[in-house]
Amino acid sequence: MERESMEFDVVIVGAGPAGLSTACKLMQLANENNQELMVCVVEKGSEVGAHILSGAVFEPRAMNELFPDWKEKGAPLNLSLIHISEPTRPY
Ligand SMILES: Cc1cc2nc3c(=O)[nH]c(=O)nc-3n(C[C@H](O)[C@H](O)[C@H](O)COP(=O)(O)OP(=O)(O)OC[C@H]3O[C@@H](n4cnc5c(N)ncnc54)[C@H](O)[C@@H]3O)c2cc1C
Repeated sequence: MERESMEFDVVIVGAGPAGLSTACKLMQLANENNQELMVCVVEKGSEVGAHILSGAVFEPRAMNELFPDWKEKGAPLNLSLIHISEPTRPY
């Protein structure tokens, strides 16, 4: 039996936030250093994001580090949360 094969420098299993941010960071570093890098992300879901839960709260620190201009690029996040330091007491 003949099997098709492809060569990659890095294979990442899982296209969740961890796998995707790893792939993005590796490609950013490769581009900054003019290096050719073949990264493959393998996802068992039907498509990337199929197993990502729709989050209620999004903590953007990692996104800010990875893509400082994510807001300008039009990420589909519509509500921002304000910091509440003290719980509001009814009495
Ligand atoms: C009910 C619930 C609600 C949540 N709400 C929030 C929220 O509001 N805000 C927030 O920030 N976080 C929330 N989280 C946490 C958040 O979902 C996780 O922290 C985050 O998804 C972890 O990312 P990850 O990449 O490590 O793993 P995952 O997101 O689990 O990604 C792993 C990926 O790997 C794939 N995979 C696994 N095994 C294989 C394999 N053998 N081959 C190929 N692909 C494979 C899976 O299909 C999946 O897509 C919530 C979690 C749960 C359970």
